[in-house]
Amino acid sequence: MEQACQCPCGVNQFSVSGEPIVRFFCHCTICQKKYDAPFADVVLFKLNDVTMPDQAVSYGKYKRFVAIDRGICDHCHKPVMAKMGKDGKGYAFITAQNFTDPNALPESAMHVFYGTRKTDIQDALPKHSNWFSSQLAFFKLLKAAG
Ligand SMILES: [Zn+2]
Ligand SMILES: [Zn+2]
Repeated sequence: MEQACQCPCGVNQFSVSGEPIVRFFCHCTICQKKYDAPFADVVLFKLNDVTMPDQAVSYGKYKRFVAIDRGICDHCHKPVMAKMGKDGKGYAFITAQNFTDPNALPESAMHVFYGTRKTDIQDALPKHSNWFSSQLAFFKLLKAAG
């Protein structure tokens, strides 16, 4: 299924096809800052499933999450998408807010970097508090997704 995405100002229009690998809440301090929110609502796709013209996005790496390249819109300065790895071996992280129809997305499956949370969350989802357990949860999912 193809889904339309865009950054908050709409300058960057892109689309994803294929099934999302997982949707999760990220409480890391970088997300808190970039999204200007207590946590980010993120959906993970294979990078090959994303079609993005890449015209008005600036990518910058952040030390703590070395492998992740965060793309910020040149116009609204909000996150467009983040990527990890390249092409067939890469993954894309897209916030649920950037989907034209977020209702078509799966339910969130877990919280990561819960140790740096700004607010306690009352739900039954698994909560991975530190860097190590959060990374581990990702690797397991990525392995399962092939
Ligand atoms: Zn924008
Ligand atoms: Zn984060």
